[in-house]
Amino acid sequence: MLYYSLKKQAPAVDFRQATIAGQAPDMGLYFPERIPKFSPDFLRDLKHKNKADLAFEVIQPYVGDAIPEEDLRRICAETVDFEFPLVSITDRISTLELFHGPTLAFKDVGARFMSRCLGHFSQQREGKVTVLVATSGDTGGAVASGFLGVEGVDVVILYPAGKVSSIQELQLTTLGQNITALEIQGTFDDCQQLVKQAFVDQELTQRRSLTSANSINVARWLPQQFYFCYAWQQWQGEEPPVVAVPSGNFGNLGAGLMAYESGLPVKHFVAACNINDSVPAYLLSGEFEPKLAVPTISNAMDVGNPSNFVRIQELFKLDYEHIKNTITGYTVTDETTADTIKRVKTEQGYLLDPHGAVAYHALEDYLGQHPGDKGFFLETAHPVKFYDTVEPITQEKIALPSAVEVLLNREKKSIPLAPDFAQLKEYLLATA
Ligand SMILES: *Cc1c(COP(=O)(O)O)cnc(C)c1O
Repeated sequence: MLYYSLKKQAPAVDFRQATIAGQAPDMGLYFPERIPKFSPDFLRDLKHKNKADLAFEVIQPYVGDAIPEEDLRRICAETVDFEFPLVSITDRISTLELFHGPTLAFKDVGARFMSRCLGHFSQQREGKVTVLVATSGDTGGAVASGFLGVEGVDVVILYPAGKVSSIQELQLTTLGQNITALEIQGTFDDCQQLVKQAFVDQELTQRRSLTSANSINVARWLPQQFYFCYAWQQWQGEEPPVVAVPSGNFGNLGAGLMAYESGLPVKHFVAACNINDSVPAYLLSGEFEPKLAVPTISNAMDVGNPSNFVRIQELFKLDYEHIKNTITGYTVTDETTADTIKRVKTEQGYLLDPHGAVAYHALEDYLGQHPGDKGFFLETAHPVKFYDTVEPITQEKIALPSAVEVLLNREKKSIPLAPDFAQLKEYLLATA
């Protein structure tokens, strides 16, 4: 499989090169030259496949010859080594719980897959690779955990000071070893911009082999298709589900759309956003206008200029009508998010995290207007990751999983930096 740059000013590359580079030299995102189709046999047998085999079959066409079958099967098995339960909340709304991995958020899937692929590739090359990654909260922890101790790979995480939850911060600042956290005095968009600039800085890229572990990277983005398939394995409805995805950078929704394009049955997609809603606004108007990110209680979705949006456009060949007929966008305020957390806890006994609550509200509203439909939303993080937000809303303590208790006794180590590329560059050159 070859990947081309969406800016079309760089040569096409294979999976290995796309994973190592992260982003194309023209700053475009890589996109597969074709979308594999699930065969009728695959779809018929899908419900009986085990998680690892299913993952392998979904991703193999994208990887091609870049990783031998035996290694890719092992990578897949290790990546999905935890549960992905579809849990029913009401008779029409279920949740796909994606928080059973080591850092309690869905990003574990992409980060574990990518770290293992990069570990595999770095065995075959000289010199270190530096993973440079911007996080709005959950990527940092997932990437840190996925890459901890991986030979030949250094990880540098940029996160916005004061804009991630305390548990998220501990997850990305306390591991040490090959993981460094840069605490940027700015927003997530600043962090993302700094990373993008680093990739096109010639002096820097000559001195350090840089790659990205954001959903920009195909090895992080594409495996997110797995759990849409796991949800379908567990789906009991007579008709395909409506799928609501809490969205920030739109990697998750984009992956779901890729699986759908390959043939996975989905009735409709709901893009659930907080007030950082450039995509829902686009779905209404046909005009895409990036905005400045505004902080909310669903902080992992505080993205004003979602980088994967261009992939969604590409998938639909820029056909606005088609996009609009497939995806409905929602903008959900913090007030509604908090009300939803409280109401669903009281009425259904289910505790949502703020991101899941945004999607719950959007799905509930959509189903209200489509009385025959049923669906599920992705619960992208465990509510305990946001206990500072959730506990005051429900007035109840959340029990700490043991993985979190361990963190609370660790010491935060970060390097504060201004949102200034010259400073980042200086740091990266000094530590090369
Ligand atoms: C990253 C994240 C999101 C947004 O996912 P995208 O793929 O960036 O759209 C939603 N919820 C949580 C908890 C996240 O960590």
